[in-house]
Amino acid sequence: MKRNRRIKILATLGPASDTEEMIEKLNIAGADAFRINMSHTSHKKLNELYTAIRNVETKTGHPIGILVDLQGPKLRVDTFADDKVELKKGQTFQLDGNPEPGDATRVYLPHPEILSSVEAGHKLLLDDGRIILEATKVENNIITTKVMNNCVISNRKGVSLPDTLLPVTAMTPKDDADLEAALKLDIDFIALSFVQRASDVDDVQSIVGDKAKVIAKIEKPAAVEAIEEIIISSDGIMVARGDLGVELPIQQLPGIQKLITRASRTAGKPVIVATQMLESMIESPMPTRAEVSDVATAVYEGADAVMLSAESAAGAYPVEAVTMMSNIAHEAENDPLYADIIYAHQTEADSTSADAISAAVYAVAETLSLAAIVCYTESGATAARVSRERPKNRILTLTPSKATARNLSLTWGVYSVPVETFDNENDMINHACETAYQHDLVKFGDHVVITAGIPYGRPGTTNMLRIAAIGKNGKCAD
Ligand code: PGA
Ligand code: MN
Repeated sequence: MKRNRRIKILATLGPASDTEEMIEKLNIAGADAFRINMSHTSHKKLNELYTAIRNVETKTGHPIGILVDLQGPKLRVDTFADDKVELKKGQTFQLDGNPEPGDATRVYLPHPEILSSVEAGHKLLLDDGRIILEATKVENNIITTKVMNNCVISNRKGVSLPDTLLPVTAMTPKDDADLEAALKLDIDFIALSFVQRASDVDDVQSIVGDKAKVIAKIEKPAAVEAIEEIIISSDGIMVARGDLGVELPIQQLPGIQKLITRASRTAGKPVIVATQMLESMIESPMPTRAEVSDVATAVYEGADAVMLSAESAAGAYPVEAVTMMSNIAHEAENDPLYADIIYAHQTEADSTSADAISAAVYAVAETLSLAAIVCYTESGATAARVSRERPKNRILTLTPSKATARNLSLTWGVYSVPVETFDNENDMINHACETAYQHDLVKFGDHVVITAGIPYGRPGTTNMLRIAAIGKNGKCAD
């Protein structure tokens, strides 16, 4: 779908938006890709949503990305005899390996590997940080803690261990089953929750192969520390601010968001800023000023995509939230200060022919104020490198691969149109001009710069750069 903005929108589907009719409305309003959250989705529902999205895609004729988000090792305490207990600041409370229901002195933590890796002094945050416990002693698989605030703790509350490097990989048996179900479908992205190290991503990459792109969700302090290696192993990154804001002091989020978006942009991997972006729109047709500013900040940082969670999945105003996000992005991108801010961070080219050509394309388009950059791409790699330059010009990517077109749904500024393969250079140039013209990216008299690999169809061979003029009826004028 052609948009009047460069940043992409990823909308989570849920009870408020799980019909084909709603998916089409969200897509028209601005959602470029959809997230299916396996924490709340059965395999039956996954299949239904998949079919509905692909039906909308066929109807609109434009590629839509599908991201399947795996829950990962979310730790939870077990249950209490009275469903909940009250804890007093300063009292002792234990987490242990005894499956008996809990009381005001102890509860069962059904993750034996965790009991032995926590150390005295480590914090345990329960219920999204509402309950703070500090380990004072860890012995015989019992964690003894001091309760740091008056609180109520109830059945199956989540446990975060920000200080502890957990001896678990990012995949649980549920994740394995969900991944298998997802890979039976033609989905585009797998998102991995609670990644701690690059090898967590490598393990999943080896199962996924070329069936999908793997996005690492950064929501653990250990992942922030290992961000450079994780970016190398991943095809994209999500700044998962929900859990990250529990695992780290919340005031550190803005700086970490900037660090991660910058590192991802430098690497040329798409980066998604997620969670609570328009949170109040779950219940209200208007966001808060702070939320508007938050979405705009991600736009000014040059993020590839912004995400809606409950706003589009379970809120009362899913379509309005997508529209609002799109409007905020459009406004920020047209702010005269936008270019200054986004170009304050410039990226060095790697010494590859794809980067040399991308840097040259950028320089040509900029110097000549060209209307558009047209990029023939097989794997999407060249399009990603051109997008990494964050050019002011429109980027039209022409690809014979449906998967590539869909994979670019989370890449900044890229508008993808499927093409046939070509065997001669002149046909390619003509087709580039005509397609840019038909899709209203250029008009008679404009110039475009075209990049491609010759011979066409062999991935990794981007080596051609041509400037062409748009003639009458969109034909190439020279
Ligand atoms: P979640 O991930 O919605 O799956 O928890 C996003 C986040 O933690 O921000
Ligand atoms: Mn999360």
